[in-house]
Amino acid sequence: MELWWARRDLRLHDNPALLAAQADGSAAAVFAWTPALHFWSGRRRAHLARVLWSLCEDSGGALAVRKGSAPDAVVTAARQADASVVWASQEYSPAGVSEQDAVRAALEADGRELRFVGSPYAVAPGRVTKSDGSEYKVFTPYSHAWRDHGWRAPAQCADPDLLRPLPPAGPTGSDAAASDVSLDLQAAHGDAEDPLAMRHEFRESQVLEDLRAYVDGDLARYAVERDRPDLDSTSHLSVPLAFGQIHPRTILAATGAVRSDAARVLESELAWREFHADVLWHHPRAQRESLTPVMADGAWLTGREADEAFRAWRLGETGFPLVDAGMRQLAATGTMHNRVRMVVASFLVKDLHLPWQRGADHFRRALLDYDHAQNQLNWQWVAGTGRDAAPFFRIFNPTAQAERFDPERRYVQRWIPELDTPGYPLPMLDHKAEREVALAAHRAARGERSGTRSQK
Ligand SMILES: Cc1cc2nc3c(=O)[nH]c(=O)nc-3n(C[C@H](O)[C@H](O)[C@H](O)COP(=O)(O)OP(=O)(O)OC[C@H]3O[C@@H](n4cnc5c(N)ncnc54)[C@H](O)[C@@H]3O)c2cc1C
Repeated sequence: MELWWARRDLRLHDNPALLAAQADGSAAAVFAWTPALHFWSGRRRAHLARVLWSLCEDSGGALAVRKGSAPDAVVTAARQADASVVWASQEYSPAGVSEQDAVRAALEADGRELRFVGSPYAVAPGRVTKSDGSEYKVFTPYSHAWRDHGWRAPAQCADPDLLRPLPPAGPTGSDAAASDVSLDLQAAHGDAEDPLAMRHEFRESQVLEDLRAYVDGDLARYAVERDRPDLDSTSHLSVPLAFGQIHPRTILAATGAVRSDAARVLESELAWREFHADVLWHHPRAQRESLTPVMADGAWLTGREADEAFRAWRLGETGFPLVDAGMRQLAATGTMHNRVRMVVASFLVKDLHLPWQRGADHFRRALLDYDHAQNQLNWQWVAGTGRDAAPFFRIFNPTAQAERFDPERRYVQRWIPELDTPGYPLPMLDHKAEREVALAAHRAARGERSGTRSQK
């Protein structure tokens, strides 16, 4: 028997790692509930637990969820299954790579082997290169090369009957490092009636049904309406993508069957997802460091002033309705419309003069669809520091953005009940003035950098 190490691929459909584990007959399956999950928000952890619960049900109870480090959980499960080979989907983010390196080393020390097949992407990071083998730095040529490269058709659905349950891993005995977390999952399942669970469906079958319904329905409005937070025309696929309940290839197969501008636009958004993963793969430091610094380190707001500004932003009390509505939507639901993410991110960096990493950290704690590459690189895009990013001088005006993308004020009214009453704060700053401050700091940083260069 071989073992499937379930990671960000929590599905039975279109799952090459699971299929490979089943290729010679029955397979066992394990998911490691690692200490790193304690840094997730409670909401995201509960969602993961529901997804695991549902996958466990779909696999006839065969998925073992083990508490412990990934090496401990996987080695323990491999021993129990007597599996000499463990199959997994390959990760490309810095944390995913170090986790799989540790699992590989632990398995090898135990006389076993880790093999990869598939990844969370249609085209794995590092695969799309220029003819000289170097990476693409600009999105549009990358996306053309990505389409030319193409991807496989979705793989067939795995057979749940071929999955065999592992015996429980006791908290005592030789396998003490990994123990079952079934109680946590039951607790999460019992809580499944909350409205959030209803909105973000956690069953794989529902995710696939939602995709079909979207492609046949609201997708038609996507090309024109996708920037409107007041109209619900986007796919809501980022949450199932983040947990691997669906593979992008499955989405691309569905959009590929549709001849419309909207389908091409959605594919292009998925190409951004792959581009960002590619950038992070080539530049792991981009998870914390600006790829292109835009301000001198000393130009950012610091100390108490910075903390107060950040607090107003985080709580949605800046007095700029679109910013506040977005931050309140995030706090209440764990999601935020893409246009509004761009506006709140720009406000943090260019109006409040806070470094993008501070906002990205808050998003990491709050977002249900959190994806390291997408979050860090989108923040860098808005901040003007990323690959093929928006130029720093293109600063979103939060009032003009609200007039353009929420013209009837339905979105802001929905999230700010006290809007238009004396209870709502006045704008905390003068956007025009802060814009000038940001631009001056940027000019100074550029001058400094070119000065440094010319001295060399
Ligand atoms: C500051 C900031 C932080 C972000 N953090 C995340 C994050 O942690 N996780 C995440 O999945 N997305 C992130 N995004 C991208 C985007 O906002 C979400 O993917 C999108 O809002 C999800 O809604 P949807 O699935 O309805 O999107 P749709 O518009 O229906 O798009 C379909 C899919 O395309 C991909 N996509 C769309 N826009 C982008 C984009 N700008 N970059 C990369 N992929 C994209 C997503 O996988 C999305 O599910 C961030 C954007 C910004 C500006």
